[in-house]
Amino acid sequence: MAGEPQADCLFCKIVAGEVPATVVRETETTVAFRDINPQAPTHVLIVPRRHYRDAGSLAAAEPAVAADLLTTAAAVAAEEKIGETGYRVVFNTGSGAGQTVFHTHAHLLGGRGLNWPPG
Ligand code: C5P
Repeated sequence: MAGEPQADCLFCKIVAGEVPATVVRETETTVAFRDINPQAPTHVLIVPRRHYRDAGSLAAAEPAVAADLLTTAAAVAAEEKIGETGYRVVFNTGSGAGQTVFHTHAHLLGGRGLNWPPG
């Protein structure tokens, strides 16, 4: 059921502490941890504690938590000191857009120049 932990979900397991991750920030509703395959000097994933398959599903069910993801991303960006040079927050949605883990996650990328449009 949406919002409930999924037994086969990697990010539910990271939230539960069952799979190790380098956690950089935790809030009541979110967990932020370093991407295992970083694409930039700062590459942090911010996930809701509760399971939704993508950003739109989360925003429809729990809009305040969707906002928390962005607040947490901004707090991590400030800690990592990437705010002045700029950073990007990305939600890949659907396999055609590169989503491989179907538990909502924001990618926070920064610390290097970022091209537009993305690939
Ligand atoms: O947007 P997408 O679903 O492809 O992002 C999933 C991200 O999760 C990838 O960037 C991948 O490197 C990351 N990942 C991770 N730790 C794992 C497995 C995947 O950080 N154990």
